[in-house]
Amino acid sequence: MRKIYVFDTTLRDGEQSPGVSLTMEEKVEIALQLERLGVDRIEAGFPVVSAGEIKCVAEVARTIRNATVVGFARSREQDIDAVREALREAQDPCLHLFLATSPIHREYKLRMDRAKVLQTIDAAIRYGRKYFSKIEFSAEDASRTELDFLCEVTHTAIQAGATVVNLPDTVGFATPDSFGEMFKAVREQVPGIERIQLSTHCHDDLGLATANTLAAIAAGVDQIEGTINGIGERAGNTAIEEVALALETRSDRYAAKTSLVLNEIYPTSRLVSKLTGMSVPGNKAIVGDNAFAHESGIHQDGMLKNRTNYEIIKPETIGLGAGRLVIGKHSGRHAFKQKLAELGYPCNDEQLNTVFEKFKALADLNKQIRDEDIRSLFDGNTASGLS
Ligand SMILES: [Zn+2]
Repeated sequence: MRKIYVFDTTLRDGEQSPGVSLTMEEKVEIALQLERLGVDRIEAGFPVVSAGEIKCVAEVARTIRNATVVGFARSREQDIDAVREALREAQDPCLHLFLATSPIHREYKLRMDRAKVLQTIDAAIRYGRKYFSKIEFSAEDASRTELDFLCEVTHTAIQAGATVVNLPDTVGFATPDSFGEMFKAVREQVPGIERIQLSTHCHDDLGLATANTLAAIAAGVDQIEGTINGIGERAGNTAIEEVALALETRSDRYAAKTSLVLNEIYPTSRLVSKLTGMSVPGNKAIVGDNAFAHESGIHQDGMLKNRTNYEIIKPETIGLGAGRLVIGKHSGRHAFKQKLAELGYPCNDEQLNTVFEKFKALADLNKQIRDEDIRSLFDGNTASGLS
């Protein structure tokens, strides 16, 4: 099994979610949970943005002992100096430099030609090398960059001394096939590519972040970047939990895995949701409230006969209790009987028939049936507040 390194940017790209701002204590609490989860690299922030951000990143750097702590910087000395200050006490520091490389960004944002972009990358990495042994370089908007130029950029970064080169789909524009082809081409065409780790970083504007990340893994990248619950700029980043579980569940296809402690996924998801104030949609893959809930009668009956009928991931794997049977109008007799037994009302077939009829009538009126509703139903009373 090939190891895929996990670079978590919940505290940097995730914090760039509109409306999210974390205090120093909150950043440290999340970082400690990420360390328990077993991520390899924690991007703690973007130090140059403020004195407060430097303090936050420094506190994370001081606290974390079992993961690389990363500071984000534009390709300029002032930004690099801010990362130096913030990571002074890190056990294992890493400088993360970026510069946009696509024609759109070169022309309308940077006002730099190709030669100037290459020269800026080279100078920034060489300056960073004086202070850091680990340097990641990100070619911002890589997926919209001409392939020949992207190869030149990657080559320049390697020659200057980068240890990781990240090719992000900054605006969520890539499709899985185009993205995989981009990585294959870079791996085939750039001399010295075997000396560094290749990384990917995707956004979910078209709902393809996880699919694109998996395509990059299939094309040979060593590192994936993402956030917990997929939070981040606009539609968000790749949700790390989705990639980890896809690799775990479909090892037959990828033969690759992360070092994540999978049963820390759910607690990490809850903590990030609580501290960022960004709630997780019920139908969110892996960590949504309904991700392991079964309502329809056919599914519930199948689940009770054998969980693998409708369950590809055991909820216990990510640190949750067993899958929930939601009792509602789609539920069948088998699940209802099981629910009654769980609530302490074992019953014979005749009793079941009577109560099941009443239950169906109530369920027609109410989408969700609570445990107390079922109790009062069995006791022959109509629950208050049911309709
Ligand atoms: Zn991003």
